[in-house]
Amino acid sequence: MNEANKERLSWSRRHFLRTILATPCLCAFAPSAISLAEEVDPSIVEPSAEEAVKAIDAMYRTSAFNATSERLDATRTIQRSVDRLRAAEFDSYFKSSREDAAKEEENRAVLRYLNSSFDKVLNELKETKVDDNSVVFWHVYNMGYLIKTPTQTIAVDIRHRRAAELLPYIDFLLVTHNHRDHFTSSLCDAATLAKIPVVSNFLQNDWIVEENERTLEIGDSTIQLKRVDHNKNLIKFVTTFEINCGPRSGDCVVYHVGDACDVNQLTPKEPVDVFIPHLAVGLNVPKAVNETIKPKLTLLSHILELGHQIDKWRWSYDYGYNAVRKCANDTVILPVWGEKIVYSRG
Ligand SMILES: [Zn+2]
Repeated sequence: MNEANKERLSWSRRHFLRTILATPCLCAFAPSAISLAEEVDPSIVEPSAEEAVKAIDAMYRTSAFNATSERLDATRTIQRSVDRLRAAEFDSYFKSSREDAAKEEENRAVLRYLNSSFDKVLNELKETKVDDNSVVFWHVYNMGYLIKTPTQTIAVDIRHRRAAELLPYIDFLLVTHNHRDHFTSSLCDAATLAKIPVVSNFLQNDWIVEENERTLEIGDSTIQLKRVDHNKNLIKFVTTFEINCGPRSGDCVVYHVGDACDVNQLTPKEPVDVFIPHLAVGLNVPKAVNETIKPKLTLLSHILELGHQIDKWRWSYDYGYNAVRKCANDTVILPVWGEKIVYSRG
């Protein structure tokens, strides 16, 4: 039996099992070890290694400010691989050894990209010297960013299997909330041990902030913290961070709001330079961008959360580009993994 037939057969088996499990009177007949399986569309073909390398290269050579056909083609190639990777497979990759991870990266374009973009970020983070009146951003994954100012490097919501490698290069770490797509325990633990501040509303350390509002000063950054809702059940679950990156940056203000869902709760104290919202948590991003916050630049985030099932809350590149279009504002961009964005106060 060839691979395509095997895949089709296992897909129809999963489809059959899903039907059985969804039918209460038949549940007793389902094999006990089988849970509701994620279905992979058998018509989607994993990109070859050659296609993957070409797509990744195109991602790095193009810019979020200009979604050329080359970049869009590359997103389609990576998306095919995203659409074939089950959440459980991603979880197991995340926990795997370096050797096992490398094998997966050979075979799956999305994991090759996730790993290679981390190398890119690490190298550029080490080499980049930030000019005065500027701040440099790197997009890591989901809502994870590294923010380098002329004086400090700030990490926010970093989720990556290699996150702990960032430790020597960061001055402090911010975590918006206690959902695993927004932090990596190995990095948080290592930073805490190394006495690097890890600020969150849930990690039990010297830097925990449980109040509704607070101002922190770390180095020459001043951070306004405010707790807001994630959804109607998770009230005040998310801490937003309004970071004034200090005088050398030109007092550049970065506003990372994690999975904040209510535009009326977003009340920054200063004009915002760079706004980082979740594009699909119910937040009215067009209103925030065009009417209330009016940032100079918006980095729409939270696509391709691979810990979510293929057909559930794993927003695609296409979804992201649609969200950009809805904002009808050319200061709104969709960064991809590994993207470097230089922001200068003009
Ligand atoms: Zn999230």
